[in-house]
Formats: sequence, C-alpha cells, structure tokens
Amino acid sequence: MVQKDLVHHYRAWCPLCFERWSAEGSTVYEPLLWLLKVVRVCPIHLQPLQVQCPRQSCQKRLPVLSPTSRPGYCSECGEWLGASSQSKILAAEKWTEGERIWREWVAASVGEMIAHAPSLLTKPCREKTASMIMSCAKQVTGGNFHELGRKLELDSTLIRRWKLGYFMQLEQLLRFCFPLGISPLQFLAEEAITIDPIIIEKLVAEDPPARHWVIYNKEKLQQKLEAELLVDYPTRSMQAVAKELGCQPLALTRCFPDLCQAIRDRHRTYQREIERT
Ligand SMILES: [Zn+2]
Ligand SMILES: [Zn+2]
Repeated sequence: MVQKDLVHHYRAWCPLCFERWSAEGSTVYEPLLWLLKVVRVCPIHLQPLQVQCPRQSCQKRLPVLSPTSRPGYCSECGEWLGASSQSKILAAEKWTEGERIWREWVAASVGEMIAHAPSLLTKPCREKTASMIMSCAKQVTGGNFHELGRKLELDSTLIRRWKLGYFMQLEQLLRFCFPLGISPLQFLAEEAITIDPIIIEKLVAEDPPARHWVIYNKEKLQQKLEAELLVDYPTRSMQAVAKELGCQPLALTRCFPDLCQAIRDRHRTYQREIERT
C-alpha cells in the first residue's frame, strides 16, 4: 500500500475516551488510530472524533506536534478536551445512515489492523495484494474485472492495476473489502480468502444503485448487536436497531433471541428511568 496522506497533521480525539480514562485514573493518551485520516469515529463509543477545541473562544485545530502538547488538553488554550469539558463539544457532522455504518466499520477494521499487525499499515505487499484481488474477482465475477468494478462501485482500471502489483492505498483497500464483507486484516494477512456465498449472491443479483450498500453476514450482525449493548445511554429500540442493520426485527429475533431480548430489556429500563426524571 502507498501511504500517501495516511495521517492527519492535526489532532483528532474522542472526548468520551478521554473522560473515561481520566475518571478511571488511567493514562490519558492519543491512540495512533485517531491520527489516521480514514478513521472518523471512535470504535468504542461510535462517536465522531473531534478535530477542533471545544472552547468557544478557541475552536482551533491542534497540530499533532506542539511543544505545549499534552494528551487530553488543547495546546492553544489549555482546555480539557474530555466530554466533561465546560465548553460545548461541537455538534457531530451530519452523516447518512450508510456513511455512519461505513465509518464505524472503518474504525473497527483499522483498529483491528493496528492491534494485530501494525506493520501492515506501512509495509507494501504487492504480490499478496495481486493474488488476493485475483481470488476475489474469480469468486465474485469469474475473473471479470470490469464487472467486479461495477459491482463494488470502484474504477475497474484501478482494480486491474492492483492485480498487476500497483500499490493499494489504505482507503482503497477499505473500499474494496467493505462490500465483500471481508476485513482488511484478512485481506492482507491470510493466505486465502473465501467470500461469504450470501454476499456473492447479493452482489451478483443486485446492481449497486438498488443495493443497500451495507451487507452483513451473521457473525457481523451478532457483533453489531453485542456492540449495541455496550453503547452509552440513550439506548435505542429494537426497531431502530433492526432498521439500521437493514433487517426485520422479527428475523433478527429469530436468529439472536437472547441478544435481542437484552436490547429490548435495556431500552425498557432506560425509558423507565427517563419517565422517572
Ligand atoms: Zn471513544
Ligand atoms: Zn483551545
């Protein structure tokens, strides 16, 4: 992969992470993940990363390297950047449902790469890329690159170049893996990859404009539901969760009865608490 424009020149942070570390008395730091341009949400809190000081009179973007830099604090005005900051955290960008899901997936996938093999972010691996691209094309379109490009909404010339050993940028790798339901770590680290037949079937049957961009397999759905149980208040109804995942609540309940029940219970408890206050 070519690592052009991989990292931000200014800081990006999750105010909820800062707040939690500070409350727990653990070290406040700024993970490498937050610096990567493709990562726009915190994979733990699923909240957009902040890029401007929250203090009304400051609102500066903060350089990554500054002599006065201190994790968790604005290097310009000294404001605490955690969620309890007296200043208002700037409103999150307006993302569509699809964009939000994509951003969450990116944060989680890149986090996984950093956790398992940080060298994958910077070390080129042309042959590996080429063989993986060919394998994916074979599985989805019988080796037709033009068709694969159309299905994945990617430039087929680009795909052909990757097959020839051209470098793949991180964002391109993510765009390639996401619709195929594979993780970038799998793509780069595993010997061979088998794309979920359900995903292939969907890709073959439906054309991009009609297709919901997000395709989940069962394992991913389960992860999503488990993550829902960890999200801070306010909780969401099962209907809202199912809608976001592009599933019928009933179908989800049939597949994951315990998880769905737990989500319903938690939401009920939350609603009761709201009524009481
Ligand atoms: Zn966070
Ligand atoms: Zn500031």
